[in-house]
Amino acid sequence: MERLGSLNIETRSGIGAERGRLADGMSAKRILVVEDEANIRETLRYNLVKEGYRVDEARTGPEALTEARRVRPDLIILDLMLPELSGLEVCRILRQEMSTPILVLTAKGAEVDKVVGLSIGADDYVTKPFSLTELMARITAILRRVELSRAGPGPTAEVEELGGFSLDRGSRIVRMHGEEVRLAPKEFDLLSYLLAHPGRVQSRERLIQAVWGSNFFGDRKTVDVHVRWIREKFEGFAALPFRITTVFGVGYRLDRLEDAASPAAPAAPAEDDV
Ligand code: CA
Repeated sequence: MERLGSLNIETRSGIGAERGRLADGMSAKRILVVEDEANIRETLRYNLVKEGYRVDEARTGPEALTEARRVRPDLIILDLMLPELSGLEVCRILRQEMSTPILVLTAKGAEVDKVVGLSIGADDYVTKPFSLTELMARITAILRRVELSRAGPGPTAEVEELGGFSLDRGSRIVRMHGEEVRLAPKEFDLLSYLLAHPGRVQSRERLIQAVWGSNFFGDRKTVDVHVRWIREKFEGFAALPFRITTVFGVGYRLDRLEDAASPAAPAAPAEDDV
């Protein structure tokens, strides 16, 4: 802890962060780290500062609320197991007050926590022990999404292009390496919606609302069936540039795999587990 003392001071003053790797001229993003375990907190702070973020800390649930309200951070890393007030409670309360993205840290195997964490409004989660590389990639992805959404709703791109894949919303034609992939209308709409919201878990309810509309009274399993059909239609292609992940108990998330392959976030699993 002593070893990191000087970094601590730099972080508080915000000077150290300025020389970090900042995305295209943006000012340093401020991240609130909520974690009661000192060594994890220190490791997170050390690495976040190194990446150019300004870091604030909280050790308990009540402290998290106080700091979040005071600092108004750009992102909150929230451990679920906290003294005094659980991370779930903190998440629930903060969600009612601010739209700050929340990245939840949860114990490995705590499936219930994961699911509950997301349904109470967390943006993403990472299970402990986690890879710093993965955590940093998630943070970058969340902040980028926020930037994009702040840039205005903007029309959804007419054409999604990703690796050898393209989805044209005008002509409603989907291609892989030039070859047309024939999707039924709802399969197309579902894939189109997921592509427009990459990296975010979409509940079945939200997908039904978006694709089938509020007048749909069918079964939520309809979503599962359509996702299965979409997967089947792309099964034959190697190196698909996106992946639709089933998030147990919640819904689905589409990841653009180009992000994972960018230099800042190596696709290979990292060894730097915390
Ligand atoms: Ca903890």
